[in-house]
Amino acid sequence: MADAQGGYQRIMLAVDLTEESKRVAERAVALARAYQAELHIVHVIEPLSLAYGGDIPMDLSSVQEQIHDQAKSHLAEFAASVNVPAEHQYLIFGRPESEIQRAAEAKGADVIVVGSHGRHGLALLLGSTANGVLHGATCDVLAVRVGEEPPAEDAESDSG
Ligand code: AMP
Repeated sequence: MADAQGGYQRIMLAVDLTEESKRVAERAVALARAYQAELHIVHVIEPLSLAYGGDIPMDLSSVQEQIHDQAKSHLAEFAASVNVPAEHQYLIFGRPESEIQRAAEAKGADVIVVGSHGRHGLALLLGSTANGVLHGATCDVLAVRVGEEPPAEDAESDSG
């Protein structure tokens, strides 16, 4: 929970480890500095069996292991770049939305920071991780806008 002055004490930054994560992390780092809060980082690996159901008739465990090892080193590298120590890095298997919420609760975070694409059309109907995290979160959620499309004028001038 936020402290008596309304400040944050513990921030849970959720990263998908894409290029955009840097922008999301910048906000989380700034927030941590402003409130002198602890910064924690979580990355969730979606199990292949969840993504593909039981559709692939082969043993995926060695592929899954490779994905895990790679994610582990990417997460460590990313966390080091924003000075987050190993004991505040979490690599979890499962569905991102629910595991991010669970990690935030387990660690007593008072705010979750995620990236948000500001989608429209069909993608909006399908939802996003940011939406999923917001629904049912027991603490504040900061959705940092990422991957914005260029303004319409620019798109037009390109074609003419
Ligand atoms: P999305 O719009 O669903 O691609 O997700 C946008 C944001 O959700 C990312 O910037 C992250 O903050 C968070 N996110 C998505 N996938 C993951 C993941 N596997 N682990 C941790 N955070 C994630």
